[in-house]
Amino acid sequence: MKLKIAILAGDGIGPEVTHEAVNILKAVAEFGGHDFTFTPLLVGGIAIDKTGSPLPTATLEAALESDAVLMGAVGDNKFNSLPPDKRPEAGLLQIRAALGGYANLRPSIAYPALSGNSPLRPEVTDGADILFVRELLGGLYFGQPRAWDKEAQRAHNTMVYTRAEVVRVARIAFELAQKRRKKLTSVDKANVLEVSQLWRATVTELAKDYPDVTLEHQLVDSMAMHLMNIPRNFDVVLTENLFGDILSDEAGVITGSLGMLPSATIGGKVNLYEPVHGSAPDIAGQGKANPLGAILTAAMVLRHSANLEQDAAAIEKAVTKVLADGHRTADIARGGNASQHLVSTTEMGKLVHQALAESIDQRQAMHAV
Ligand code: NAD
Repeated sequence: MKLKIAILAGDGIGPEVTHEAVNILKAVAEFGGHDFTFTPLLVGGIAIDKTGSPLPTATLEAALESDAVLMGAVGDNKFNSLPPDKRPEAGLLQIRAALGGYANLRPSIAYPALSGNSPLRPEVTDGADILFVRELLGGLYFGQPRAWDKEAQRAHNTMVYTRAEVVRVARIAFELAQKRRKKLTSVDKANVLEVSQLWRATVTELAKDYPDVTLEHQLVDSMAMHLMNIPRNFDVVLTENLFGDILSDEAGVITGSLGMLPSATIGGKVNLYEPVHGSAPDIAGQGKANPLGAILTAAMVLRHSANLEQDAAAIEKAVTKVLADGHRTADIARGGNASQHLVSTTEMGKLVHQALAESIDQRQAMHAV
């Protein structure tokens, strides 16, 4: 299998966690005899320092020619006084727009070993494994007209969706549900909003093409409660842009740390993969960053851009094992717990590498029998 991966490590802890994620991808390539190439490219604050632009043309062109883009994070306090379109974060927004992905995937998983890290009780989070599919290019964030009339002291935005926009993201959600536990929850506000009524009617109609998937609809307000009460009831959750923005952050609480959350944006010209967290300038360069969000993001690259499901699952299993063995970066360590072993970013990366190698060895041994 050949895969050209553009690596946009960015700023702060971005390069630290991306380095560990790339090492894991290199290991998968070596074990499986795959041909993965990695092209490092500039984005964010480091790109401003070196080229004057947060997204240099060379980065954009090379990203568009790759099979997948793996980002770290962007953002550096020294650029805080610049106007928004000149700051590192502008590079991120520009590359997201240029790659054109409309389906943002965010898993929310309760790792048994981290059950004490979530503010929710373990018996609530136990068994939760949710995949959010958030529509990313439509709805209130992009709808026209939009304006703030300061004189009239009035502002407005427009929540708008076409049937075609709903169909394309809903198909992705149904297909993902088919590969998981075959349950899809579509979230809307159809009791109040016409745009949600179109959303619900379209998703209901599409469900006929996926008879093996059980579809349910939830209103966004009750969904916000159900997610915190019985998260294990959900498998794939499909939402429009604004509702997904809010609910996927809420569901991050189930996992218990920002450093653990991966994401993928698919459906456009090239898929974009990035951990959910930012550049964390407060811990950058100290070896304290949790690389697991980035490593789990690498697993998503294999699943969604290379169809290497077994390898993606092996990475996720390796992460679960390392956590179960008690290894913790500072963000997920709980004070005074003697069974935990505090590790640095690179140590955590090595532990996952080791667990992955063991699991792949076992798989190969089973094939040989
Ligand atoms: P942040 O996600 O960088 O950090 C929030 C808190 O979580 C910090 O205390 C940080 O130390 C901690 N944290 C984050 N990731 C961690 C990890 N992997 N391991 C351990 N701890 C981790 O958010 P912020 O502080 O609001 O923003 C910092 C900069 O990042 C800003 O410039 C912001 O614009 C940018 N940002 C970028 C992205 C992105 O690139 N996708 C996302 C969010 C914020």
